[in-house]
Amino acid sequence: MDNCIFCKIVNKEIPGNIAYEDDVIMAFHDLEPQAPVHVLIVPKEHISSLDDVTFDHVEVMGWLMAKVRDIAADLGLENGYRLVCNCGEDGMQTVKHLHFHLLGKRRMLWPPG
Ligand code: 5GP
Ligand code: ZN
Repeated sequence: MDNCIFCKIVNKEIPGNIAYEDDVIMAFHDLEPQAPVHVLIVPKEHISSLDDVTFDHVEVMGWLMAKVRDIAADLGLENGYRLVCNCGEDGMQTVKHLHFHLLGKRRMLWPPG
C-alpha cells in the first residue's frame, strides 16, 4: 500500500534491520527499542490493524503466530518474552500496518501502562 512505512520496509524500498523473513511475514528491529530485544513481526500483506483481520486472513495469521517461537528462539529469548499488538486509537497504534511487538531480554511489567 502506498505511503505505508511497513509496506516500504517489506518491499525493501527503505532499509529495515531484518531479523527474519519468509514469503508471508517479516520481522525487523524497532527503530526505538523498548527492550534489549524489540522486533516487529508483520504480515507482508497490508492489513491495517488487528481489527481488520477476518477469516480471509486465517492462514497468514496462523503462519505468523506459529513462527513467533522460532523468531524468539533465534533472538535468544529462551527466558520468555512478550508479544504486544496495539490496536486503534485507545490501543495507541501509531503505524497502520498490523504488527506484533516481540519484546525480550528484560523483565516486563504487568499491568502495562
Ligand atoms: P505502534 O505504536 O503502532 O504499536 O508501534 C509502531 C512501532 O513502529 C513503534 O515502536 C516505532 O518505534 C516503530 N517504527 C516506526 N517507524 C519505524 C520505521 O521506520 N522503522 C522501524 N524499524 N520501526 C519503526
Ligand atoms: Zn502496509
